Amino acid sequence: MSGNFLALAQPGVQQLSPYVPGKPVDELARELNLDPSKIVKLASNENPMGPSPKVLAAIRDALAELTRYPDGNGFALKSLLADKCRVELSQVTLGNGSNDILELVGRAYLAPGLNAVFSEHAFAVYPIVTQAVGAEARIIPAKAWGHDLPAMLAAIDEQTRVVFIANPNNPTGTWFSAEVLDNFLQDVPEHVLVVLDEAYIEYAEGSDLPDGLDFLAAYPNLLVSRTFSKAYGLASLRVGYGLSTAVVADVLNRVRQPFNVNSLALAAACAAVQDAEYLEEGRRLNESGMLQLQEGFRELGLGWIPSKGNFICVDLGQVAAPVFQGLLREGVIVRPVANYGMPNHLRITIGLPAENSRFLEALAKVLARG
Ligand SMILES: *Cc1c(COP(=O)(O)O)cnc(C)c1O
Repeated sequence: MSGNFLALAQPGVQQLSPYVPGKPVDELARELNLDPSKIVKLASNENPMGPSPKVLAAIRDALAELTRYPDGNGFALKSLLADKCRVELSQVTLGNGSNDILELVGRAYLAPGLNAVFSEHAFAVYPIVTQAVGAEARIIPAKAWGHDLPAMLAAIDEQTRVVFIANPNNPTGTWFSAEVLDNFLQDVPEHVLVVLDEAYIEYAEGSDLPDGLDFLAAYPNLLVSRTFSKAYGLASLRVGYGLSTAVVADVLNRVRQPFNVNSLALAAACAAVQDAEYLEEGRRLNESGMLQLQEGFRELGLGWIPSKGNFICVDLGQVAAPVFQGLLREGVIVRPVANYGMPNHLRITIGLPAENSRFLEALAKVLARG
């Protein structure tokens, strides 16, 4: 007799759905017999510029050492990050993507009988890392698509160990101000670790978004997570980092894989941190692309959620799934967000100007068909 290995999984895992990634270009090309080079993918908040030549050179240099284990302590990258972020080396935790940082937090601080608090329409990885370790996911209704921080505060109890907040948030693009963040941090009980997920913060520089690093010194229960996957353009290499007190970093370090960031990723990230021009060009491209899409939506009579990320959610005023399918047939991949509780929206990553145009033309065509 064989066991029912779904029923045997721990209850939190049975209730999870697997993470649904953006549809890969090659998959759509196979399905529709299309030329992959003709497909536009604006589905995973990837950097549309392609990798920086400096990063490619650093990877080429690192190839010779491929037979060796990477530096498990990531000394070179941590040093650069500590410098840039105005913290001590001991406060930096490196992750296989910032996803890894979130996972380390779950493994180190959550367990059955404990809970994590986060918002409706928040990043899909928060329930995964919470329920994977048997903890309760406490999901607080959003307010105007964004985090309702006072309501999240009210949901915290003795068993709460972690609050996940993202600024700006994915998939909604919503954000909160420094004042709102500071008020929240002041009121969060000291036994709760606040994970401030700043995956898109580089796109928000110079805006009214707070820099989470400014709050680290005042709040020992704060962890700021960041990534090289978005503005730095290294999504495929998987590098992210956490900034916290040295105590929290030490705890996370105890549960991580010894070599969680590979040597090519370390070399690439070191080059990327020092490549200010790439970041600046990406920001400019994102800003103009954001305006291009908004203008296109206006012409089509569509609303959207204002966003500080490299993506925007358009409101189709109807169930979005058929429009998503129609766009696929036009060779354009965007992201449905029904699984985030947003059935009438599609999330579009800001692409190159020509990609944005392709998407807008395809959208007009699909909507005209009705
Ligand atoms: C993309 C994203 C991440 C991290 O992605 P990694 O590639 O694992 O670094 C984290 N949080 C949010 C909200 C994101 O959108």
